[in-house]
Amino acid sequence: MSAIFMSNPTQLEAKLEEWLKHSPDRIRVEYETAYSGHKVYAISLSDFAVPDEKKRKLYVAQPHAHEPATTAGMIDVIEQLVAGYDLAGRPTLLDVGKVLAGMVVTFNPIGNPGGVERSPYPYWDGTEVPNERFWCIMFGEDPDAPGQRWNRVDQFDTKELQAPDPIGIAYEQLDAYTYVEPNRTQLSSYSKLFRRMDAEYRYDYWLDLHQTEFVNSATQCQILLPTVGLQTDEIRIQCEAWANHISEVWREAGFVVRPPAPLGYTGTQAEYFRRNWGDIHRRMCKMTVEVKNNSACTPPERQMEAEALAVVATIRRICGEV
Ligand SMILES: [Zn+2]
Repeated sequence: MSAIFMSNPTQLEAKLEEWLKHSPDRIRVEYETAYSGHKVYAISLSDFAVPDEKKRKLYVAQPHAHEPATTAGMIDVIEQLVAGYDLAGRPTLLDVGKVLAGMVVTFNPIGNPGGVERSPYPYWDGTEVPNERFWCIMFGEDPDAPGQRWNRVDQFDTKELQAPDPIGIAYEQLDAYTYVEPNRTQLSSYSKLFRRMDAEYRYDYWLDLHQTEFVNSATQCQILLPTVGLQTDEIRIQCEAWANHISEVWREAGFVVRPPAPLGYTGTQAEYFRRNWGDIHRRMCKMTVEVKNNSACTPPERQMEAEALAVVATIRRICGEV
């Protein structure tokens, strides 16, 4: 399993070198350099001989360093688009020639490589770390309340408050003192890279890959739609049909699927999304994939499979194959 579940920057860069050697004309690579020194990659696949303006554009990304199956799933899909086989050696369901002629698909497989490097585990399978401990690794352990998860904020400055030691792996370090949660600010490498790539390709769809614990539930997968009120009716209807399609593909693959629902955040957390991505939601279909993390009922290879399936189903749908 560990051979095909790849989630750290070294593994991604080794694969990237391989892909570029195999298909130099069909891959374009751009990156932001994070404060940690890591490159945050946007890997675009297409038949670049076909004019871009005729293509549908899809962006696929991961903001959270504690959700490694998202990276593993993206690496698997890129492998399918390059080699025609998934990492387990099965032939891809994608009509690769048609996909690359008709689309630009851009992947940001590791949004916060510095956070991933600080992660004590390559994946979360629920066998060693209880959720309460996992949440402290994610956002840090509250110095005033041992055993409790620290604040979830868009940005903080270690000169101004007593931050946890160590800092939670979900946060990206921007300078000596500043940390951010990548998808809640425009200052992160994840956001800067998206804005730069979007200026180049102007995407039609964005699939943001995540994981969550689905505490006390058998649920393994769910699509979260944008917060109510952010989208036009037309885009909302398009999004719901897309979400239902992915949900059906998951069910057919034997996953326990919760029906799509709008992102449940209220108050400050909802405001982060409105402020940062309101313009994007008004323009394109952007959805959140959630796959169960840190539970023995969903081993890492199944987590990876669910993430990859969501991307493959999306590409096939956009290409009119299903
Ligand atoms: Zn997440």
